[in-house]
Amino acid sequence: GLRNRGSISYSGALFAESFHRLLSTQTGGKLQDKVALITGAASGIGKATATKFINNGAKVIIADIHQQLGEETARELGSNATFITCDVTEESHISNAVDFAISKYKQLDIMYNNAGIACKSPLSIVDLDMALFDKVMDINVRGVVAGIKHAARVMIPRGSGSILCTASVTGVMGGIAQHTYSISKFAVVGVVKSLAAELCRHGIRVNCISPFAIPTPFALGEMSQIFPHVDRQRHVDIIHNAGVLKGVNCEPNDIANAALFLASDNAKYVSGHNMVVDGGFTSFKNLHFPAPDQVQ
Ligand code: NAD
Repeated sequence: GLRNRGSISYSGALFAESFHRLLSTQTGGKLQDKVALITGAASGIGKATATKFINNGAKVIIADIHQQLGEETARELGSNATFITCDVTEESHISNAVDFAISKYKQLDIMYNNAGIACKSPLSIVDLDMALFDKVMDINVRGVVAGIKHAARVMIPRGSGSILCTASVTGVMGGIAQHTYSISKFAVVGVVKSLAAELCRHGIRVNCISPFAIPTPFALGEMSQIFPHVDRQRHVDIIHNAGVLKGVNCEPNDIANAALFLASDNAKYVSGHNMVVDGGFTSFKNLHFPAPDQVQ
């Protein structure tokens, strides 16, 4: 284990890098020498996935709109992580990020379209803000489509590739989030199926992951708008208590594990799939009958 390796520097970034390198050589590397581009990887689910991919032998391009956070994340993950500024609403940014992966590593094996936002939007359709709707669709749907377009551009000539997207439980059933966000995530599932239908004949797999709520900055931002009068820990608790599977909470690492599977050759025959990671939440509704002696 780590403790026996006396030569490792225990200070900051150097330690992180050594640790990641050590892990990538020790875990056998399900993604050995693969190149991945992940949007929205400066934080949350994207960051957890970048970490997991690197620990499994991949090189990762972290593409995010948040420059400072993205650079910090890349530094933290070591020399197999590189940051590039990318706003997914700008097609040229996505195109540049894909070209950057090719110029640096000569190939792109995995494209993970993960960047997404939610916006506090009125709950009733009657009050829907169409400008806000356009903004959310621009990032959550158009950004994903543009990501697949440019990944396909470089993957088709090689005849292989794995494309991933982050959808959501709110794109599996209605009534869990405000309409704008929910609609955008239903669309992501549709995008995946439509693109899988074309790209299958080029050996390219297209899948998405639908996470349950996870207390990342994204979800905590939503919570602080809905419950401004309580603190962060209460927001975390509210999210965790909404889950149905006892004894565990949904964490970024659970999504990273799903992404690792779908990106790797272990999923070589999986395409057009929406992998729901929700502890069963969207699969059932528990009926609560009154006790027999309470029914007259
Ligand atoms: P997060 O806030 O931790 O990370 C999102 C990242 O996306 C940030 O680094 C942000 O800078 C980046 N980003 C935002 N707009 C961008 C743009 N236009 N271009 C490029 N990057 C941009 O949030 P997260 O929870 O990790 O969210 C990741 C994905 O997971 C999103 O698509 C979100 O909809 C989805 N999701 C989240 C949850 C949850 O509860 N956290 C549940 C289901 C799905």
